[in-house]
Amino acid sequence: IPVVAIVGRPNVGKSTIFNRIARQRISIIEDTPGVTRDRIYTHSTWLNHDFSLIDTGGIDFTDQPFIDQIRNQAEIAIDEANVIIFMVSAREGITDTDERIAQILYRAKKDVILAVNKADNPEQRQDIYDFYTLGLGDPIPVSGSQGTGLGDLLDAVVAKFPVTTEDEVDDTIKFSLIGRPNVGKSSLVNSILGEQRVIVSTIEGTTRDAIDTQFTDETGQKFTMIDTAGIRKRGKVYESTEKYAVMRAQSAIDRSDVVLFVIDGESGLREQDKKVAGYAHEAGRAIVIVVNKWDLVKKDTSTMQKFTEKLRGELQYLDYAPIVFVSAITKQRLNQLPELIKTVSVNQQRRIQSSVLNDVLLRAVAITPTPTVKGKRLRVYYLTQVAVKPPTFVAFVNDPEIFHFSYQRFLINQLRASFDFSGTPIHLIARQRK
Ligand code: GDP
Repeated sequence: IPVVAIVGRPNVGKSTIFNRIARQRISIIEDTPGVTRDRIYTHSTWLNHDFSLIDTGGIDFTDQPFIDQIRNQAEIAIDEANVIIFMVSAREGITDTDERIAQILYRAKKDVILAVNKADNPEQRQDIYDFYTLGLGDPIPVSGSQGTGLGDLLDAVVAKFPVTTEDEVDDTIKFSLIGRPNVGKSSLVNSILGEQRVIVSTIEGTTRDAIDTQFTDETGQKFTMIDTAGIRKRGKVYESTEKYAVMRAQSAIDRSDVVLFVIDGESGLREQDKKVAGYAHEAGRAIVIVVNKWDLVKKDTSTMQKFTEKLRGELQYLDYAPIVFVSAITKQRLNQLPELIKTVSVNQQRRIQSSVLNDVLLRAVAITPTPTVKGKRLRVYYLTQVAVKPPTFVAFVNDPEIFHFSYQRFLINQLRASFDFSGTPIHLIARQRK
């Protein structure tokens, strides 16, 4: 999916606009882990166009001189993005820094949309004509504080997206290996590819932050493996920051159907792991938890079970993800991975007929009646599936406000008990019907 990056000098309001655009999403009601704070990368949708949005200003370069920070920001945008939103401010007018950024952007040969923020009132919206002198096309007035102009801005952005034919018939499963450094991603990549007889091609990912390898297994299933470990230190300063590593992982997750979430079996789970796993979950990707280096773990009969219980406790929202214990070195259980990837991919695309869904709903409500909240009884009239990848259901209710998380959770669990959705998140959206 297309990537859009926001660049601009500090204080022009990048994060405000970023947050406003992020909030345009329909509110998907689900078990959201705490990854939304302080994020620099988000999914968004405008007029049926899906895209990822990067707030380059949110990346921490505090140990570098100001001008390097600006240059790094622009570089990330140029490397990663299909469309760049260059943000300036109507209040301050054109500054030297703005001109410098414009210089970098000219050379980038990417589509740039010039957004003039802080155009809060009609006079300020008049003043934007000065910004034509930046030579980056029509300035679009927006106001982060008032939320105006965002529609025009997003119209201009999506107009630059490449035209894709809908319903491209593509039965390739795209999967990525995600995990912090040294968990063994490269070793796994090599071991997986070592098992495959047919490697179709190896290409650098379109955003140049990953290597994509296509292969076919013995059943003829096509896979594209997105390998973020393959490209490391290309010598640019920003690539070594942790935030950038997280961003690179997020970009790979965006391009994947299935995420192999790799954990080091010896050292266990870390904060960074949780952040990335939370992102994959929110993005609706099918997930397989791969516990690697299992050969190094001293085991007795309950080690695997104990490890599983601990992991489930730490990653409660990933309760649907299968866990497999492997070793990239001894190759133990690696042969199970292609089969697991296929299974979770099928589940992620499972479609359930409305009539069948409503049988499940009736039974569910009979088992656990809908709650009464603030004197009002919740009614769930109807369930229908509106999308796959991930399976997304709309529940028509009398009042979304009283459709509490616990009852949504209960319905999702009923769906899981009735159909095989292992490995895939389920999204449930509440709509009001009077
Ligand atoms: P990456 O940064 O996630 O790509 O990790 P690497 O694949 O570079 O692996 C980091 C280190 O862990 C290397 O020294 C590997 O040889 C080692 N390693 C990877 N997988 C395993 C495993 O399953 N068992 C053992 N014993 N070592 C492993």
